[in-house]
Amino acid sequence: MSESVVAEEGPASAERVMLEILIHGPLSRVELAERLGLSGPSLTRLTKPLLASGRLSVGEPLARAAGRPILPLDLDPAAERFAGVKITATAVYAVVTDLRGVICGELELPLAGHEPEVVADAVARAVGALPAEFAPLSGVGISLGGNSADGRTVSESHFLEWVDVPLADLVEGRVGLPVTVANDVNALTQAQHWFGAGRGLDTFVVVTIGAGIGMGLVAGGNVVAGAHGAVGSIGHQLLTWSEATCWRGHHGCASALLSTAAVEAAASRATGAELDYDAVLRGASRGDPALRSVVDTAAAALGLLLANVTNTLDPRKILLAGEGARLGEVGEHAMLASLVEAADWESVRTPVEVQPFAFNEWARGAAATAIRARMTSAIPEAAAATPYRGA
Ligand SMILES: [Zn+2]
Repeated sequence: MSESVVAEEGPASAERVMLEILIHGPLSRVELAERLGLSGPSLTRLTKPLLASGRLSVGEPLARAAGRPILPLDLDPAAERFAGVKITATAVYAVVTDLRGVICGELELPLAGHEPEVVADAVARAVGALPAEFAPLSGVGISLGGNSADGRTVSESHFLEWVDVPLADLVEGRVGLPVTVANDVNALTQAQHWFGAGRGLDTFVVVTIGAGIGMGLVAGGNVVAGAHGAVGSIGHQLLTWSEATCWRGHHGCASALLSTAAVEAAASRATGAELDYDAVLRGASRGDPALRSVVDTAAAALGLLLANVTNTLDPRKILLAGEGARLGEVGEHAMLASLVEAADWESVRTPVEVQPFAFNEWARGAAATAIRARMTSAIPEAAAATPYRGA
């Protein structure tokens, strides 16, 4: 159950009503008023223009033991569509989703270079090529390995070698739609918080394992970006001394010990064979002693990292995501043992859940940031006067 903020009356409350129904709906008026801390008449005053404009509708009757059936308030998830684009070093991946983050189409385009204009062109081409048989797009979300303090400019991105690139402006000029830019892990966290494993949790952490290690944070019911859009930069946190180094030369940082490349390198050192990440996990699962030891060493380091996370943030749940998330499944025993060992409180047992990996989750996360921008933007008075059908 979410811990909804008691809403003040005013335009912000209309957004809260929409958001509550987006995430948890359909909801009866009684439940909605309770969740938002509003009186019945206040709720009616807020929902009337939303119903008149078509942004909210009366949903299917909820079954009820006795008396009249309850008619809940709902929204039409198909009324608006959003594009989500994940930028990698070699390609852009785009999805189109409905208002509730359900993917209705996807595609991949190669990236010819890393110059901002080239990347903006590729993003615009991908958005233009998305299936058009749905409602018009209301916005575009872009996610990438990098940070953005304001949701518009990429302050820094190592893999693109960018500093202060106004990506949202560049893409808006090409697609003519509102554009939001976000760190890819924060975007993924937004999608998981509203539409996935973190739904309804006020405090929730996503730890991603892949080429790098990252973390997304939900606190007080909101995704927290930090002062520089750089919250959760745990990839080079030192965990234990090791011969293994990352590309920055740290001995025993998170990237040096548990990135997918680090696990592959450790397996190669242990067996003399070149094995890809999945082959290492499969071998460990089958009981190969050398690979079991490689996986358990990486998983123990992961447990230390998660202990730091729980000691600092005390989340209700940790979700492991990304292409390397299965380390937490195959190495579960070693991971939990070191998590418990390094946790400060004996009574705090934070559940750790492994998210099955699908690459389009990254682009879906990008779409979630566009949905968030749309849902938290002011609902204009004019919306009450004209039927609402997307942008
Ligand atoms: Zn490092």
